[in-house]
Amino acid sequence: MYDVETIRRDFPILSREVNGKPLVYLDNGASAQKPQVVIDAVTKGYAEEYANVHRGLHYLSNLATEKYEGVRETIARFLGAPDPEEIVYTTGTTMGINMVAYGWAMPRLEAGDEIVLSVMEHHANIVPWHFLRERQGVVLKWVDVDSTGALDPQKVIDAIGPKTKLVAVTHVSNVLGTVVDVKAICEGARAKGVPVLVDGSQAAVHMPVNVADLGCDFYAITGHKLYGPSASGAIWMSRDRMAEMRPFMGGGDMIKDVSKDEVTYNDPPMKFEAGTPGIVQQIGLGVALDYMMGLGMENIAAHEASLRDYAVQKLSGLNWLSLQGTTPDKAAIFSFTMEGAGHAHDISTILDKKGVAVRAGHHCAGPLMDHLGVTATCRASMGLYNTEAEIDTLVEALELAHDLFG
Ligand code: PMP
Repeated sequence: MYDVETIRRDFPILSREVNGKPLVYLDNGASAQKPQVVIDAVTKGYAEEYANVHRGLHYLSNLATEKYEGVRETIARFLGAPDPEEIVYTTGTTMGINMVAYGWAMPRLEAGDEIVLSVMEHHANIVPWHFLRERQGVVLKWVDVDSTGALDPQKVIDAIGPKTKLVAVTHVSNVLGTVVDVKAICEGARAKGVPVLVDGSQAAVHMPVNVADLGCDFYAITGHKLYGPSASGAIWMSRDRMAEMRPFMGGGDMIKDVSKDEVTYNDPPMKFEAGTPGIVQQIGLGVALDYMMGLGMENIAAHEASLRDYAVQKLSGLNWLSLQGTTPDKAAIFSFTMEGAGHAHDISTILDKKGVAVRAGHHCAGPLMDHLGVTATCRASMGLYNTEAEIDTLVEALELAHDLFG
């Protein structure tokens, strides 16, 4: 049984106050809070078990290496990946996508080749492709969402032409919450022989993910949104794509031999992991994923679906609030603007006075903001520990903001 009040006690920060009010943390889309088990793992990692990994022949180095390397298996399990060696560690989705842009796409794509993207991508899944556009004449092909924020997978498949070399698409929009039918996109793309990169930064937080079932080629995740430490993360790559990848960064750990004249690389995944990594961060991520799997991803998804339905009902009762992204197939992420309010920042400042933490701005989604015809929105994004009572507090705070702007 999913007892949210018990779960909340695992997160020490949730019992603090902000501006004299109990914290209502609804900025999970930006970063999630950490359960005590993760905090303890990080503390222990530094206090008792710290050394650099891989190179040492001493006790602590071996211990740290064992713990750090063991997380690959946890991530593989979390993502339904067949083999832990297909997991490459990163500092987050931004690094994962840049790795693919530099290591896989740059050497392969030529002027006139195309990358198909949806209009609701995060800048992390846009700017690396702009680099290819600027530097080597790659063409970015954009697929719009409909008025509810839904993305028709067939439209993405239809956009794939003979020059398309990659589809890069988010699994869940960080602004609208839209869940994308990535499996259908992968099926269509595969039939046309085109690989698919999935930005799983938001999706993996809210629903069970199985990369084997999705049929994608790359799946990037962000540790700090998964209740893990900041600067932790991973990208899963299929064996075939991994074999085609060139290393993105050079340095220690990713090599076998280096001489004045040549270099031979380590075997994947270490071939793609140059330099001293975020040792304790990754160990903390492993604990966070075990924590989530312990609660059960299906249970988390069910809890958040009921929060979403409650929030839809409450927020749609506010007729001065414009909700963006009304497709029913969405995560509990709500973007809105308010009649009479000057800027989304003004709303979030008032909410903050009531202890309610939301985000305001363009959410690193410039093309989506253009598509919606807004410069900024306020975003309330929920996580596994949020409650209906917190949504009530959000609504009360919004009513106050509306009265003030009224
Ligand atoms: N993609 C999406 C959909 C995101 O929401 C985010 C984080 N806001 C990112 C990518 C980038 O994640 P990170 O900054 O942790 O690399």
